[in-house]
Amino acid sequence: MRGIWRPRTFVFLYFIFSTGGILWLIVNYDSFCAESAKHASHKHPYLMHVINEDYKAKQMELVKIEKRLKEERKILQNVVVNLRQQYPQARDSIMDHLNVLNASLPTIYAITPTHTRPVQKAELTRISQTFLHVRNFHWIVVEDSNTKTSLVTVFLKKSGMKYTHLNCRTPEPHRMGENDPNWLKPRGVEQRNTAIDWLLENVDANKNPGVVYFADDDNTYDLRIFEEMRYTEKVSMWPVGLVGGQMYESPRVDRNGKVIGWNVGWQPQRPFPMDMAGFAINLKLLQEKSYAKFSPKAKRGYLESSLLVNLVKMEDLEPKANMCTQIYVWHTRTEKPKLKYEVKDSDIPMEV
Ligand code: UDP
Ligand code: MN
Repeated sequence: MRGIWRPRTFVFLYFIFSTGGILWLIVNYDSFCAESAKHASHKHPYLMHVINEDYKAKQMELVKIEKRLKEERKILQNVVVNLRQQYPQARDSIMDHLNVLNASLPTIYAITPTHTRPVQKAELTRISQTFLHVRNFHWIVVEDSNTKTSLVTVFLKKSGMKYTHLNCRTPEPHRMGENDPNWLKPRGVEQRNTAIDWLLENVDANKNPGVVYFADDDNTYDLRIFEEMRYTEKVSMWPVGLVGGQMYESPRVDRNGKVIGWNVGWQPQRPFPMDMAGFAINLKLLQEKSYAKFSPKAKRGYLESSLLVNLVKMEDLEPKANMCTQIYVWHTRTEKPKLKYEVKDSDIPMEV
């Protein structure tokens, strides 16, 4: 017996109990706190009331500050848009400041084929003044011409946009005749491919993530479509208004958020029966599958499919615009103006 109650035993027991006690305290800390808070609120109901009220007031203050910040950001954005328009030559330094704010946003590369015609400047003005409002936006304008025209060159310089200006004339066999119906040949094909080639050569998607969108010059764009497409992983899709002989065409989406078919009347058996304005592609995917291009020989209605079949399967598509329930882009077409008379009595060299 005496052998057990040596001083060493007491030290050992003391060690066991104190360590055990501390562990017990740690494990039960949360319930102590809850208990003591309950006790305190019981004992000091007024104090707890004051603390609660104070907490609520702080929260409300935070909500107000957040709202004000959001409004101020909007104002700032508008100021920036105006500045870029008024001082296009200072665009780069304005953008540099902005990039600090938007550094982590993937860039939207919008590819616009365009060709000379009376409404060209009006179309470019309308869409560029929409695009000015989109953050981290790089506009690739490809003229269907042998050389860059001065109208588009000067227009872009004054636009305040971050842009790349390219040109490529549609080869003769694929060109539309003056009186050809618009469905006879696909339009803007070589121009879009030229822009894809430029992106493959000049941007590294691993360093600068981006998304590619084909934005024809005559469509109408709601700003929301750009934020929908910005985080596309492979290929995203959404409905397009006023197209294909219907009020809108759309991917059909099931309850699990998967695209399972198409809401289109005309030739729904096509691999991807969607309009050019209804999808965006992650730049990295386009760079990985660098052979993917639009086919100038695509049959009527198969142009979009000719590119997409090389990139994605239907089940991989990412439906956007609230699971394809909102229209954020319209396939509008501008009427060809009837120009019966020459403008007389004016020697002003007017660019229209
Ligand atoms: N386009 C072009 N060359 C042409 C005809 C059209 O570069 O000879 C461009 C046009 O400016 C537009 C895109 O290609 O950005 C699609 O053309 P359009 O809007 O006429 O086609 P649709 O909307 O009728 O399919
Ligand atoms: Mn069009």
